[in-house]
Amino acid sequence: MQHHETQPLIAVSHGKGAWLYDQDGRRYLDAISSWWVNLFGHANPRINAALKDQLDRLEHAMLAGFTHEPVVELSEKLSALTHHALGHCFYASDGASAVEIALKMSFHAWRNAGLPDKQEFVCLKGSYHGETLGALTVTDVPLFRNAYGPLLRSSQVHVVASPDARQAKDGQSAADVARHAAQQLEALLQQRANQIACIIIEPLVQCATGMAMHDPVYLQEVHALCQRYQIHMVFDEIAVGCGRTGTFFACEQAQVWPDFLCLSKGISGGYLPLSLVMTSDAIYQVFYDTDVQRGFLHSHSYTGNPLACRAALATLAIFEEDKVLENNRLNAARLTTALAPLAEHDQVTHFRQRGMIWAFDAVLDQGNDGNNNASTFSRRFFATALQHELLLRPIGNTVYLMPPYILNAAEMDELAGKTLAVFERVMGAT
Ligand SMILES: *Cc1c(COP(=O)(O)O)cnc(C)c1O
Repeated sequence: MQHHETQPLIAVSHGKGAWLYDQDGRRYLDAISSWWVNLFGHANPRINAALKDQLDRLEHAMLAGFTHEPVVELSEKLSALTHHALGHCFYASDGASAVEIALKMSFHAWRNAGLPDKQEFVCLKGSYHGETLGALTVTDVPLFRNAYGPLLRSSQVHVVASPDARQAKDGQSAADVARHAAQQLEALLQQRANQIACIIIEPLVQCATGMAMHDPVYLQEVHALCQRYQIHMVFDEIAVGCGRTGTFFACEQAQVWPDFLCLSKGISGGYLPLSLVMTSDAIYQVFYDTDVQRGFLHSHSYTGNPLACRAALATLAIFEEDKVLENNRLNAARLTTALAPLAEHDQVTHFRQRGMIWAFDAVLDQGNDGNNNASTFSRRFFATALQHELLLRPIGNTVYLMPPYILNAAEMDELAGKTLAVFERVMGAT
């Protein structure tokens, strides 16, 4: 709060396309999709029309004992996108709740299957899965976690090596780093598989820790280990799903399906809170019983809200009608080319890209407090970007772009040019 004494809040009055406008008439290119949720721009006419139509039919009805067309249609569309490997959807309203659901469901499924000792979870170094107490136990970002450490059941969570490709030493490939990380996981499973319910992974890009990218072979290796040691795999695709990494689901690039897949953020096009957990027939059957105690009891008041589901259906329709994944491939290549001066900049390291995510690390003076330098850098960068009509918020010394999928060529060139200008100004000043 105190930082806002020097960096006042921006009061947004309206949005259009990739741009946000403030009450003083200034505009900002939303290059991080309003925290990774917005896919097709603000005030998108097609999503707006779907919501206006839905508003006159049904704003909400509870999803216990009742159902409605938008939630059924959305579940069927998502199931088809997994070729029915994950044919069941469980709904909630935010990402952290989806993570809670996946963790609870994994534990409960093992208990129903006669393995009640499987109570522990595995997460990756630097992982972020949300900030409710359960999700925070599988989050390894000190900034979010430290204050609440005493409240978390940390003894039941194992943090294993991240496959972050930036760790590659001379001569090592990203796949080598990934295989090495998987070996470390196997060492843990050899010891504790009987106590472990699931491993939770953000496939391909660990976003909140600073866009740490890894080779898809990691997911294949972990998938094989999970089969061998009887561990569920949870993929948190809350940030990386919905086309962000180039395929609709990130895990398609490794050709593996998990036992549980969490979606939120982009699924409603950035319009309304909606999250869901997809799972397999096998898991569904473990809960299918006349005994209510063997069922999965978890509910939120707004579970499966019809307005949010309609926004999601309109979002999925745009993917189909506009061939979004194909077009993103072409657009991504253009933006990558435009960013070449940054990729080659001598104060930049680890320039990386996957799908519609670009990131690079600023080379900062180590000084006597590297963390402090990084947070000063990110605050300065944010403030300087605003002066250049850009909304960008680095994570420490990592600058990233995660724009909506609707930038035209001129906006992409503008984004690349201004990002370079902001970077040079901030680096000159630090
Ligand atoms: C944002 C995010 C969450 C949490 O979602 P909320 O809706 O903010 O609770 C969980 N996991 C990942 C990977 C995320 O990016």
